[in-house]
Amino acid sequence: MAYDDQNIFAKILRGEIPCDKVYEDEYVLAFNDLYPKAPVHILVIPKGAYVSLADFGAQASADEVSGFFKAVAKIAAEHDLVEAGFRSIANTGVNGGQEVPHFHLHLLGGRAIGPMVSTA
Ligand code: AMP
Repeated sequence: MAYDDQNIFAKILRGEIPCDKVYEDEYVLAFNDLYPKAPVHILVIPKGAYVSLADFGAQASADEVSGFFKAVAKIAAEHDLVEAGFRSIANTGVNGGQEVPHFHLHLLGGRAIGPMVSTA
């Protein structure tokens, strides 16, 4: 799947639309989800143009992959998610229910998040 540079997260990265930023460095931008599903619901996105987790894992450089996950760990610690625990989700493609085609990791915490997936 080709990267669509008109997706909403690409527009946020370019500063064309605002976000509620919680962290930024050379590799990632992180912001609060507009429709939070938990007391803490942060989206972490790479600055590079990657459609999904699969695309990121296949195409990103070692520095980008490392930078991304180092930032995730830092953000989780900064938001007191580590000790109590949290859920991280990367929806991918149609079956994964991915709505925005720019790779993003959801960090959900601040309460028990519940069963991993619906069995329905
Ligand atoms: P996904 O279904 O994994 O693609 O998740 C997309 C997420 O992006 C959803 O949780 C939305 O609530 C969130 N979202 C959509 N637009 C925005 C926005 N402008 N700012 C912050 N979060 C957004």
